[in-house]
Formats: sequence, structure tokens, C-alpha cells
Amino acid sequence: MNPCPPLRQLLADAGKLRAFLFLDYDGTLADFAPNPDVVLPDAHLLDLLSRLVERDDLRLAVVSGRRLTHVRALLPLPGVWLAGSYGLELVDPGGAEMQRLDYQALRPRLAAFKPGWQRLLAGRDGFYLEDKGWALAIHADKAQAQAAAEVLAQARMVEVPAGFRLQGGERFLEVCPPEADKGAAVEYILSRSDLDGVLPLFIGDDDKDERAFTRLQAGGGIGILVAPRARPTTARYRLASPHAVRRWLRAYLG
Ligand SMILES: [Mg+2]
Repeated sequence: MNPCPPLRQLLADAGKLRAFLFLDYDGTLADFAPNPDVVLPDAHLLDLLSRLVERDDLRLAVVSGRRLTHVRALLPLPGVWLAGSYGLELVDPGGAEMQRLDYQALRPRLAAFKPGWQRLLAGRDGFYLEDKGWALAIHADKAQAQAAAEVLAQARMVEVPAGFRLQGGERFLEVCPPEADKGAAVEYILSRSDLDGVLPLFIGDDDKDERAFTRLQAGGGIGILVAPRARPTTARYRLASPHAVRRWLRAYLG
């Protein structure tokens, strides 16, 4: 995995005229918020993305694990695809909202599941239960290591409702539909786009972005991992930080 060349060079090497940039949000475009329910729009980022979206040779999609209402509040930008809950809920560049599953069918099952995890976390420091509507996530990054391991192991024992699965990460556990998948989200958006002369790229920082890297690279696109140092990944290139991502994007504006 190599440092990421400028976008102009990637386009020239691929023989493409335009880029479709798929961007994760937390840890990619912005540093992590104090907790996942904190929604703090970033004026500098909005300015940068709005200048990018004005260009005829760029299309933008932001694909986040956050719920769509948060993504929309963070990025009140017309002309951009916004995907929340790993692409279960989307808004297209024209502002039309769509859902890839039936929320009314799924939510009651998640609502019935929720009290089990609430009881498990009650009175424990360092844990945060995020309810995304479509998914429920335990964030344990502020807990002590041993407590995090014990509680997440117990959380895994609670029976998952039909139509959902567990998805883990470092100090993180989430119950969500299997269709909540950034690779599927990218596929959905690409299937609704004219790709003639277009190079798709996905920039993301965590393991749930790997499916999008794989999906794009299988079709000739490019995955770019955001990480301070090299680590195992399917992405072809690396940028060191959200700051480096913004600098890389800004460079394209000249
Ligand atoms: Mg991220």
C-alpha cells in the first residue's frame, strides 16, 4: 500500500476524465466526535465539499455508518449523494430520500432487543449505547480494556432478532441488518449513475470501509485507506489523516 498520488494523476493513469468520490465521514473527512450522537457541522469542510461538487468532473457521495438525519445535518449540501446507516437510507443529489429495507418491519424487532443491551450497560462507565434507528451500537472506546472485553462478550450472548446480525470492531459492537454494508451502498449508488469515463474512488478509515474498497477495486476503481501508518487492508493507497484527506481534495481544486 503506497502513499496516495494526486487525484489528477490517478485519473490520468486510469485514462478517465471524471471522478466519483465516495467518502466516509468520521475518521476520514473529520476527526471523531466526542460521541456518535454529537453532530457538529464543520464550516471549512462544507466549504471544501461545496467547491468540489460545483465541478463538472467530480461527483460526490458520503457513505457513513451514522443515521441519515445526522449525515444530512453534518452536510447540508445539495448535489451530493448522502448514505446513512451504511447505505440503508439514502438521499440522492436531487434531494429524494430512499430506503433499501422496510424500516417499519425491522424497527419493532430492534426496539424489543434494545432493553437487553440497556440493562447490560446500566451504571457502567465508559460505554455508550447509540440508537441509529436501523441499528444499535455499543461504543466501548472510553471503557477500561478488561471491562470492555467482558461487556462486549456478554452483549454478544443476547439473542439477535431475525433480520439482524452482529458486526464487531475494536471496542465496538453493533446489531444491524446484513444489508447495512458500505459495499452494497456503493453498488446501489453506482447502479444509478452514468459511469462513462468515470473513475470511482472510496476513501475510508475502518474495517467497515474494506467492503467498499473491494467492491470498487473489482470494477477498476480505487480504495484509499485513511490511517496514520500502513496496516493490512485491501485499499491500494493510503492518506495519513482527515487533514491529509482534505489537503488531497483541496489540491484538485488547484
Ligand atoms: Mg470512519
